[in-house]
Amino acid sequence: MTDVIEQYRVTGEPYYRPVTDEVAMFEAAYAAKMPVMLKGPTGCGKTRFVEHMAWKLGKPLVTVACNEDMTASDIVGRFLLDADGTRWQDGPLTFAARHGAICYLDEIVEARQDTTVVIHPLTDNRRVLPLEKKGEILRAHPDFHLVISYNPGYQSLMKDLKQSTKQRFGALDFNYPEHAVEVEIVAHESGVNAEDADKLVSIAERARNLKGHGLDEGISTRMLIHAGSLMAQGIAPVAACQMALVRPITDDPDMRDALDAAVTTYF
Ligand code: ADP
Repeated sequence: MTDVIEQYRVTGEPYYRPVTDEVAMFEAAYAAKMPVMLKGPTGCGKTRFVEHMAWKLGKPLVTVACNEDMTASDIVGRFLLDADGTRWQDGPLTFAARHGAICYLDEIVEARQDTTVVIHPLTDNRRVLPLEKKGEILRAHPDFHLVISYNPGYQSLMKDLKQSTKQRFGALDFNYPEHAVEVEIVAHESGVNAEDADKLVSIAERARNLKGHGLDEGISTRMLIHAGSLMAQGIAPVAACQMALVRPITDDPDMRDALDAAVTTYF
């Protein structure tokens, strides 16, 4: 089993450009065994941050991308039938708690409500996970740490974390980094030069002002890296931006034209 957990170890330092004091805050929360919630829009560096912190702390990382079909059994575990009868299989949360990994539940609010409730006993002083079907109370390994992500922009009354869940976490705000930092990240990750990275970030800043005025989400750092990667492959900047920045976020012809115009202002 130790071999299996080794597969979850983060080898090689994942590049992460700190934005404020989030690295020190996370380290303190880890030491204090305080579960952490990373808040912010998609594509702004939350996953990369967790990967970097797992590497820095030398802990394995188990990541679960949550979706609306996900039930408590999917993360806790279930009995499986095999040739010898039934066999218990730990779900990712149980596996992480048993072996002392950092468990990152990405967009947990997407999962069904019963999923959020199972994490409660793990997030207070008890640090236990009751495996009811198996008749086991699992005591979390001392190194186990729970991290969830949460995008405040997506939440509706129907789908939000309950206060009783939110209040169990310390929260770190993530957002698109300030201009110069984002330029640095885009240039580093895509291989595009600093001048072009600067233009890409300026286009994104314009588009981000349209959030709530016809756009649900702004152009993320991830999308800028996509555009930069196409340019680094030799694609002309305007075509790269259309494919990576504009077409993915809007189907509306007027909005598309407005964004295309922002692109041609810079390229
Ligand atoms: P999220 O989990 O918030 O949806 P990601 O962590 O996947 O977003 O970020 C998308 C991409 O943006 C990453 O793969 C990484 O290349 C880049 N990125 C964003 N912020 C940073 C940062 N502060 N340092 C390094 N890379 C970053």
